[in-house]
Amino acid sequence: ALINSARSAMSTIKEQGGNNYRHFVSGGDQASDDGLELETSLRQALGQKQFQLYYQPQIDIVSGRVLGLEALLRWHHPTQGMIAPNRFIPLAEKTGLIIPIGEWVLREACSQVATQHGLKVAVNLSARQFHQKDLVAMIRRILDETGMPPANLELEITESALIYDVELAIATMEQLNDLGVSVSLDDFGTGYSSLSYLKRFPIDMLKIDKSFIDEVTTDPDSNVIVKTIIVMAHSLGLKVIAEGVETKEQLTMLREHGCDQAQGYLIARPLLCQEALEIAAQTFVV
Ligand code: C2E
Ligand code: CA
Ligand code: CA
Ligand code: CA
Repeated sequence: ALINSARSAMSTIKEQGGNNYRHFVSGGDQASDDGLELETSLRQALGQKQFQLYYQPQIDIVSGRVLGLEALLRWHHPTQGMIAPNRFIPLAEKTGLIIPIGEWVLREACSQVATQHGLKVAVNLSARQFHQKDLVAMIRRILDETGMPPANLELEITESALIYDVELAIATMEQLNDLGVSVSLDDFGTGYSSLSYLKRFPIDMLKIDKSFIDEVTTDPDSNVIVKTIIVMAHSLGLKVIAEGVETKEQLTMLREHGCDQAQGYLIARPLLCQEALEIAAQTFVV
């Protein structure tokens, strides 16, 4: 009965107009009020140009040369200041706003890096983006418009983007492959069925999750895992990049294990585009 009366209260208020009924029902629940406010401002963020991309260099672990930049999204909220992606990407996923936001990220990243000869740009795609129907057509259009060579665009996806619809995911990856765009498997090692994916999906690179890199010099198990991932990836013809490299010792260890690329605060934090492009012209001492 309680549920019924709550429902009728909701529908009454809803009929009376507006979306405010959710405020009413959530009552003193601060968390969901916050979420709703955030959602409202997220809807306006794109139109009000509140997004900005930062770029973090990815280096060749042997030569120290910058091969690419990972684009990382930042939201300058008008009153809350800078909001980290971990706080708003899940909300953008849930509401579908990730689709227009993700398109903006791709276009912005490609146009900012397109003229930097040979430099790659890595763009994160969430599960929902990866399954949008016109993804490949949209990417083709953006490459055309910005003059970005397809071989210089890399998409970073996580396992969660693959498990939802395996057949569709394989088909999409094959189309991306045909287009000349490469795909990296992000946060590798944190999911459940990593190994079977490697056989089934046309992936170019594995990105070993920071949680393993954090312990690579201190925990023998993490060290063995990292070493084994690298050997296995190489035998499958995949490149390997380590994320979240913070110390010289980690970098040295990764190089000894034959890891191909590295990214992390040791090399550079995510930077404004101009700064990142300047750093990309330099060689890091490895
Ligand atoms: P991710 O793809 O795993 O990105 C790596 C995160 O680790 C970034 O956080 C980066 O700033 C941070 N990081 C890099 N090196 C280090 C290090 O040495 N130490 C530490 N402590 N952190 C490091 P950020 O920028 O806050 O992004 C968080 C997550 O949000 C990303 O994780 C990614 O999943 C998501 N994200 C960011 N930008 C986008 C985007 O444009 N689209 C989508 N769909 N997701 C995005
Ligand atoms: Ca990433
Ligand atoms: Ca990660
Ligand atoms: Ca490939």
